[in-house]
Amino acid sequence: MSVSSSFPRAAFLDVISANFHFVENFQNSELTGTARKGLAIVTCMDSRISPLAVVGMQAGDAKILRNAGARVTDDVLRTLVLASYLLGVNRVLVMPHTDCRMAIADEASIHATIKQQFGVDTSSLEFRTVSNQREALAEDVTRIRSYQLLQKGVSVAGAIYNVSTGKLEPVDC
Ligand SMILES: [Zn+2]
Repeated sequence: MSVSSSFPRAAFLDVISANFHFVENFQNSELTGTARKGLAIVTCMDSRISPLAVVGMQAGDAKILRNAGARVTDDVLRTLVLASYLLGVNRVLVMPHTDCRMAIADEASIHATIKQQFGVDTSSLEFRTVSNQREALAEDVTRIRSYQLLQKGVSVAGAIYNVSTGKLEPVDC
């Protein structure tokens, strides 16, 4: 395997191995970095979510922004500004999900869990947990809609993804 010697091979063996097969069947050479369907999805890092598959899209169609809890942070806004002016994005879907740890536990209890299990104090970080997922979604959608630097005319919506059924529930924001 032609990977550099400082690469932790054992930990990534399946990853590198799978990529060899991926390359054999690779058909996306002609794609550009522009979102062909004009869509950006802001969603959670939860491994049960395959954002493109959820909305019937493929590589090349949409921009995917992910973090814990699908929160609209400064970095998400920064990325959406670039996407809206330079990468073809004209609509944004904020998509948190059911059974999200960020909406079930509160800030203090997550810090306490990490402290208790690993002995590390993470209290200098804000994990941005939410106590009311729908309210937080509405706030996040409003934050994008009212962001002055975003390209005018971008359509912004919120929907909750159900990890048990695969269904998207549009939310009034
Ligand atoms: Zn989540």
